[in-house]
Amino acid sequence: MSSPVLFYPSADKLFYNYPNLDQIIILCDENTRALCLPKLGLPQSVPVIEVNAGEESKSIENLAFIWDRLLHFKANRTSILVNLGGGVISDLGGMAASTYNRGIPCINIPTTLMGMVDAAHGGKTGINQQQYKNYLGTFTLPKEVWICPDFLKTLAPKEIASGFAEMLKHSLIADPSYFDELCQIDIQNLLNDTNRVETYIKKSVEIKNKFVNQDQHDKGIRQLLNFGHTIGHGLESFFMDKHVSHGECVAAGIICEAYVSMVKELLGKNEFKKIKSSIDTYYKRLIYSKNDISTLVSIITKDKKNDKKGIKCVLLKDIGQAEFGHLVSTPEIVNALEYYLLNE
Ligand code: NAD
Repeated sequence: MSSPVLFYPSADKLFYNYPNLDQIIILCDENTRALCLPKLGLPQSVPVIEVNAGEESKSIENLAFIWDRLLHFKANRTSILVNLGGGVISDLGGMAASTYNRGIPCINIPTTLMGMVDAAHGGKTGINQQQYKNYLGTFTLPKEVWICPDFLKTLAPKEIASGFAEMLKHSLIADPSYFDELCQIDIQNLLNDTNRVETYIKKSVEIKNKFVNQDQHDKGIRQLLNFGHTIGHGLESFFMDKHVSHGECVAAGIICEAYVSMVKELLGKNEFKKIKSSIDTYYKRLIYSKNDISTLVSIITKDKKNDKKGIKCVLLKDIGQAEFGHLVSTPEIVNALEYYLLNE
């Protein structure tokens, strides 16, 4: 089962819900420490572990740093690690919690749209190995996920757009009317309407958890959530130190994987055009050269979702209908990356 999702809980609930809890330890980055931690209203004495903001923090060095700090704070299985931050913090903190002492409980308090709609849910934890995304990790559900949309008020527009890409993905794999609704949105004005934001967060979480509940360990139907991510993760690895967000790469991956779906005659041309034009409304194209495509393909070939038969992708049959486990050849990937580059 997926983790319970609580909207606007108060921090006192922690001690109420977990009577045997002996201590809370917060994991955050410098931004969530400054902007979000004070809003939790926890006592100053609560231990805090801080890592640098950004994807580079999903590293074995940081994992070891967190284990050391947990040891220093004498954390044990009656402690709770609270992951206060975006997807980087919940991935990294989730992995630290799931491995320290063979597993201590954690709670995710996502502070980005990406975290609220996707990353904080479902229990996939992980760090990157060399340039490969989420190569090391565990499946360990957080005890709870707390959603406080107020945190989004300080989030940069680029990060709002990043989370929105996962919302588009949810709609494309599961709900055509959600896709139509999202296509009407002016992303940067979205935050002015709190009720709407909450409705969309709930919708996305419902879609994600529907798949997680059926297949927690990603052996089958949960893989649908990887739509846009085989090529998207390749792009994210390629642009790792260039400050390109996860969502921008997923958006590009959506165009490429929808294109492959069309070329393989699963997805209609009109549906493809609609998807491409919606992504192009919200996201600038990522820039790489034709010469970079071989590097990109070699990264994509090592995607952990592949098997010995080759590159595996989720492809679309229609807007709102996806299929997992499609083998996609290297020339088909090259073709999609060239299409993305040349057809704005
Ligand atoms: P992030 O965690 O790097 O956060 C983005 C930036 O926003 C950071 O600089 C952070 O410090 C800052 N920030 C966070 N909250 C803020 C706030 N309230 N106000 C101001 N600044 C704030 O990025 P992300 O987009 O949240 O997550 C991306 C990561 O999530 C990737 O590593 C991706 O692989 C992972 N992810 C995991 C899953 C999963 O199921 N485990 C799903 C989707 C994405």
